[in-house]
This record gives sequence, structure tokens and C-alpha cells, in this order.
Amino acid sequence: MSTFSAPKGTYDLLPPSSATYLAIREALAGPLRRAGYGYIETPVFEDTKLFSRGVGESTDIVTKEMFSLTKRGSEDLALRPEGTASVLRAALQANLHKLGNLPVKLWYSGSFYRYERPQKGRYRQFSQVGAEAVGAEDPALDAELIILADDGFRSLGLSRYTLLLNSLGDKQCRPVYRAALVEFLAGLDLDEDTRRRAEINPLRILDDKRESVQAQLTDAPMLRDYLCEECKAYDEQVRGLLTAAGVAFTDDPKLVRGLDYYTRTTFEFVHNGLGAQSAIGGGGRYDGLSEMLGGPALPSVGWGLGVDRTFLAMEAEGIVLDLPSATAVYAVALGEEAKNVLFAKTVELRRAGVATDLAFGVKSIKNAMKSADRSGARFALIAGDRDLAAGVVQLKDMTTGEQVPVELDALVSTLKEKQL
Ligand code: AMP
Repeated sequence: MSTFSAPKGTYDLLPPSSATYLAIREALAGPLRRAGYGYIETPVFEDTKLFSRGVGESTDIVTKEMFSLTKRGSEDLALRPEGTASVLRAALQANLHKLGNLPVKLWYSGSFYRYERPQKGRYRQFSQVGAEAVGAEDPALDAELIILADDGFRSLGLSRYTLLLNSLGDKQCRPVYRAALVEFLAGLDLDEDTRRRAEINPLRILDDKRESVQAQLTDAPMLRDYLCEECKAYDEQVRGLLTAAGVAFTDDPKLVRGLDYYTRTTFEFVHNGLGAQSAIGGGGRYDGLSEMLGGPALPSVGWGLGVDRTFLAMEAEGIVLDLPSATAVYAVALGEEAKNVLFAKTVELRRAGVATDLAFGVKSIKNAMKSADRSGARFALIAGDRDLAAGVVQLKDMTTGEQVPVELDALVSTLKEKQL
């Protein structure tokens, strides 16, 4: 133990499970790569106003959960609580929307920061793989992104999740609905805090998890009944494309999500093995965000998938990925001279693409063979002075225990043939 431990709400990714995290990131990114999305990386901190303007002044993320950095000079910086505002900021800054095809398709992978009350599945630093398609209004694009997220989850073997789908309307129909909802909420028995939230963004009240609030919402007007013809048609097309692609969804007329910028399509993937923190990913269309950030009209859609919760969801489903052991060959030298020879062979094998490790600081052959066992390697290479005098090393199959001498000169080609 050291004097220090990881800060509250954070945790360390350690081997062997860290390999699964990497595999999850890869699996979630794979479908995006195959669909023309380019990788983007933005700073982990940004001007605080980017988030207050982009994510929304009324959201918990901005009002309560933002990690603000101590001011230096006149800058007011915050750790990023989500990815969309940063990606759009970067795309606008680099004029990506003017330089190439629209939509600009981007994906990212990284850590995000929210000062939340930590619990299982809810951390202050968490990891997302995200995707944004900037500059096109096309139901096929919304459907594409949802299908790509679903493909990513399925490729990991997940099945116990549901896709919740809703439409939040647009600037034509949402204000009409908003007015109806405000009128309805005015008649409810809500506490001061909730009332204040309702004034800034009444839709967020629908998302309130408290039973006392939900019980009063049974007769609330639903956006679905207020959608204009364009939004309705758009929504139907998204649904049609999802159905044709075999992606099942459930209507959730109360799904508004925690960020202010969504319009029309909004969705969330929820897993049934995670308890309270059940969302493994979510996103939607955000047609007005670019203008809110001072850019041109760029209708866009995107999502963020939670890597930490995907890991927990896999655990809940008992899914263990069949990851190749990091080490295929483990070399054990008996004596100084043998050590030098095996060290050189280890370097050669690695350069030839065979994952090879070597026993360092060997005190006894017994311990070194234990290390070989623990490494998960399929083969151990063992050499002592007598082997070297005969120009061979012993190749031990760690599964069968069978051991055969192999000519030193033929070692690399012999192991390469085994396609480790
Ligand atoms: P959001 O931007 O809140 O929709 O987040 C997108 C996804 O990131 C969620 O569906 C979660 O899987 C994940 N996520 C969000 N907040 C946290 C958190 N505090 N800890 C772990 N995962 C999170």
C-alpha cells in the first residue's frame, strides 16, 4: 500500500481486466471505422462557457457536476463532461464542414468528468466511445448511428439491453408542446427546486426519477401527440430503417435525456443487469447546437457509449471475451550465457511478430517455470549451457507438457509456423 489511493469516484484499470476495456473500445469503434467515421481527439478541458452554452444551463451536468479548474488569468476552464460540444467546436474551428463532404463523420474515445455522487456504474471519471455526424438532416443518418451502436454492443455478445426511442420535435412543434407542459406542471405539487428546474427546462421534469414526481405525470401531455408533420414523418422513417435492419426498439415518450441540445430523434440503450445506472449509451439529433456555438446551421446527430458500464453489462451477462494471452512464448534461461542468447532470440521473435517475454531476475528454475505458467504463454523456451553447446533450445508446450529440442537457427521460423 502507498500513502495515496485513487481519488473518490475514480478507479484504476489494471491487468488482466484492462485488456477487456481495450477490447470494448475497439469493438465499439469497429463499426464506426467501417462506416466512414474519422478519429478525432480534442482537449480534456475547454472554456467553461462551451459546456454551459452547449450542454445547457439547466442541466445537472453543468449546474452541479462540472469539474471547474482553478482560474489562471482570465480563462475559465472545465474538464469535459461529455464529447459533443467539444467535437462540434473543433469541427467548426477547423472548418471541416466547408472542406469536405457533409456530413462530417467523426468518432472519439476518451475520458469524461462529472462531479457526481459515486456509486457502482457512476464515476467521476468515466470512459466513452462516441460518434458525431455533423451537417446533414437525414433520417438514414440517425438510423445509421443507432445501428452502429447496436452492432458494437452485439459484437461484444451483449443481448440483455433495450433501445429506447423518442422524438423531441423541432423548433416548430416543441414550443407548442412546451407551453402545454408548463401549464400542466403548474398544477402539480412540486418542491421549490423542481419548480425552478421546470421554469428553465420543463421537459427535464419528465425525466425525474423520483416516484413522487412520476406518480403525478401519468396524465402529462406527451410530445408524441404534438409532433408536427415533418417531425412525425422523420421519426417514422428512422423507425422504418431500424426495423428493416432488424434493430428492435421501444417507444419511450418520456425519454428527454439530460442535455438541452437534443431535437427530434433521441435514444438510449438501457441494460437490465445494471440496477439504477442502467444506461449503457445514448444520443440523439442536435440540430441547433452549431448555431448556439456561433457556427452556421449544421444539423447533426451523435451518441456516446459508456465503456465502464459496457464492461459491467458484460459482467452481468457472464460474457468473457476470448482474448489471446498477451504472451505467446516465455523464455527461461539457465545461466549467464544462455540468458544472453535467449535475450537476443526474444528480441528477434518480437521483431518477427511473436509476443515473447523473458524471465528476468531469475533466482531458481522452479520459480522461472512458475512465471512461465502464470504468463499464459503457449510455449516456454528453456536453454542451459548444455543445450547451447548442442545448438538447440528446449521448446515446451505448456498445455501438453511435451518438450522438444529445436535448432537455434530454426527457432524463429518454427514458432512463426505455429501462428501464435
Ligand atoms: P450521457 O452523455 O449522460 O448520455 O452519457 C452517455 C453514456 O456515458 C451513458 O449512457 C453511460 O453509459 C455513460 N456515463 C455517463 N455518465 C457516467 C458516469 N458518471 N459514470 C459512468 N458512466 C457514465
